[in-house]
Amino acid sequence: LPAPDAWQLTDADVAARIRLPHTGDDKYTQGVVGVVAGSATYPGAAVLCTGAALRTRPGLVRYAGTAATGVRAAWPEVIVTEGRPADAGRVQAWAVGPGIGTDDDARAVLAEVLATDLPVLLDADALTLAAREPELVRGRSAPTVLTPHDREYARFGEEVGDDRVGAARRLAADLGAVVLLKGDATVVAAPGGTAHVNGTGTPWMATAGTGDVLSGILGALLATGLPADEAAAVAAHVHGRAGQLAAEEGPLVAGDLMRRLPAALHRLRRAP
Ligand code: AMP
Ligand code: MG
Repeated sequence: LPAPDAWQLTDADVAARIRLPHTGDDKYTQGVVGVVAGSATYPGAAVLCTGAALRTRPGLVRYAGTAATGVRAAWPEVIVTEGRPADAGRVQAWAVGPGIGTDDDARAVLAEVLATDLPVLLDADALTLAAREPELVRGRSAPTVLTPHDREYARFGEEVGDDRVGAARRLAADLGAVVLLKGDATVVAAPGGTAHVNGTGTPWMATAGTGDVLSGILGALLATGLPADEAAAVAAHVHGRAGQLAAEEGPLVAGDLMRRLPAALHRLRRAP
């Protein structure tokens, strides 16, 4: 149940927070996002996450993971680095985690990104690593956003339980990070207690890879300079709308949702 003290964004609220290109913009002024996702075992996570970041339309997407071949083949628009995140060139936010694994190399890349003074989104394997070393998140001065589903949430020490807003608020306060707790009832909580409940989506989104798409959307929104809690709430709303559009066409897979992002963004802007 929605908490009485949590906000639900409307289409108009969301449209007002999505940056449009204007005269004088170039690719660097519209947000540059860095993505660390995928691996030899999970190249698809890299393709979905970078693709969703692209389709959210920042100015530029950089990729610095270990599935470079797959990303190059799928997305000629992405600037791919074979090295570490620090070699990728300037970015304004990082999205880290889907399919990266949890070995020492993945841990080192995560620590490197968290040591920057940039907004960082953590998902999937990055959450497993962060649950082992929460001080990597607690010590940050720049915003961090976590996007756990219920099982990933439980790795931080307690079960979600019935009060999803309360659960998200507790982890947010503990880590000093924005927590987007995803599922059929997605909620967002900021460390200060501000909370949002998401009003979009469809059960058809319960399928492999849709979380990787959410990570790409949210990373791109962080790169445009939105405050982290707003970026998280806007990302959940847009992700759900794209899922609803995809579901109108039939049973969806994550790539279908990703490809509906431009239409979802366009419709939000035209909504009354
Ligand atoms: P992940 O668990 O990382 O693959 O992410 C799954 C995505 O699908 C999240 O954005 C969830 O909010 C969404 N999702 C999963 N199950 C449902 C459901 N029953 N109804 C609506 N959205 C869902
Ligand atoms: Mg996931």
